Amino acid sequence: MAEHRPELPVEYEPQLVEEAVLAAMRGRPEEAEFRAHRDTLYLIGDAEEREMRFRVFHTTWFERLRLGDAIAGAIREQPSIALHTHRCLVALAPSRREEGAELFVAGGGGGSAGPRRTIVLRVRPETFTEVERFRGLLRHELCHLADMLDPRFGYAPGLVPLGAPLPDPLLRERYRVLWDAAIDGRLQRLGWAPTGVRVERLREFAATFPMLGEQTEEAFERFFGATALTHADLVRFAVAPERALGLARRGPWPGEPCPLCGLPTHAFEPDPERLPRAVQERIHRRFPKWRPADGLCRQCADLYRAADRAGTREVS
Ligand SMILES: [Zn+2]
Ligand SMILES: [Zn+2]
Repeated sequence: MAEHRPELPVEYEPQLVEEAVLAAMRGRPEEAEFRAHRDTLYLIGDAEEREMRFRVFHTTWFERLRLGDAIAGAIREQPSIALHTHRCLVALAPSRREEGAELFVAGGGGGSAGPRRTIVLRVRPETFTEVERFRGLLRHELCHLADMLDPRFGYAPGLVPLGAPLPDPLLRERYRVLWDAAIDGRLQRLGWAPTGVRVERLREFAATFPMLGEQTEEAFERFFGATALTHADLVRFAVAPERALGLARRGPWPGEPCPLCGLPTHAFEPDPERLPRAVQERIHRRFPKWRPADGLCRQCADLYRAADRAGTREVS
């Protein structure tokens, strides 16, 4: 095999190497020969020796099938990755959902060497045989890492800014949708994105930010078409999308907390303005700042309706 070693050392988990080779061999002309040779290894009596021979055997085939090319190539495409990280570990992902890249940083800043940064890529063995999808996945994931390594992006692991009124999972999901739109927009301009990616990201954006109404597509373009975004831009928009666009707030929206009980909910009272006056007043006595436009969850609405009925009965 020609020497195309990336500058960044890439290490594969042995189990992934084995399973990727098995997946890649399925249906190939050499499969029978491969299987026959592999079966002879089971005959080795010494467990340690057997293990070692299996490992060498699978590594040899992994290289012969050039299964490492996709990752090495994707790393070469984005030079900032090799420049700012020290090694890349590739581990087995049990499912598609768990595929992706993470950045681990050991040792604080300071010093000329700086902190040691390790990339961990998690991939399913079958993905090595899905060449196009694999390339797309790697480009997308490495863009996340390139952003995280770029001081201009200003990435910070803690997402929740001081006093954010939103539950963490909702904020994280909104942030992810924004960041993914920005990354796929960038990849599309490079000619690296699969066709239809804009439609797909726009659909996801519209579903995540139902409060934007007619401004949805214009807001989406702020991210999909952006050339310079920062972590802070994404967080600001995720926390208060209406404010970022200068729109009046009409919430609460699914997943946001109920202003009365504080619990995130997907079931808000549909028309709080039409709650009986006595019920509204009862809520007001507990929450003087609350207005019907702030909304409330159905459970709270039921609770106050019931309390009102009980109260009325007591009085009459
Ligand atoms: Zn992503
Ligand atoms: Zn509530």
